[in-house]
This record gives sequence, structure tokens and C-alpha cells, in this order.
Amino acid sequence: MYIPRICHCGLPTVLRTSWTATNPGRRFHCCPKTGQDSCGFNGFYDPPMCPRSVQIIPGLLRNINHVQEVATNNERRTTMFKNLSLLIWLVFGVYFMMK
Ligand SMILES: [Zn+2]
Repeated sequence: MYIPRICHCGLPTVLRTSWTATNPGRRFHCCPKTGQDSCGFNGFYDPPMCPRSVQIIPGLLRNINHVQEVATNNERRTTMFKNLSLLIWLVFGVYFMMK
């Protein structure tokens, strides 16, 4: 269970996940405010990652992103194919009704 710390603003911190190359997937506490309103408080919640994890996780993330991109493109193609099929059926339907 996450127990928040108190940031320099006096607010309970939030838990976020780092996706930097040096700390991929490592969680950290930070100020709940963002941008210029943030007091800049942050500190790691998880212990340091082993060098092997730091080396492997970015590659796994790239692979996941690639697979998701391919899946999204396939969904778009499927939707386009369905719409095209429907249009063809409508054109044939109108053609045979007018015949
Ligand atoms: Zn703060």
C-alpha cells in the first residue's frame, strides 16, 4: 500500500512511474502539482534497478509499442475494409433494385 509523503507545498505526494532510459518502470514520489506550480519535490519509491533490467526494459517497451502500433493499424484497415464492403453491398443493392 502506498503511503504518500508530504511535498514542500504541504500536499500528499503522488506516485508516478519513470520511463527514462536510466530508470524504466521505476516508481517515484512527486508533488501533485505540475509544471511551474510544482515545488519540485521527488524521490524514488522503488529501490534502484539492476543494470540488466535497465538494459532490457527499454527494448521490451519498444517491442510493446511496435506491436500496439501494428494492432492499431490493423484495426484501422479492418474498419476501412468493413466500410468498403458495406458500400459495395449498398451499391449492388441499389443497382439491383433499380434494374
Ligand atoms: Zn509540492
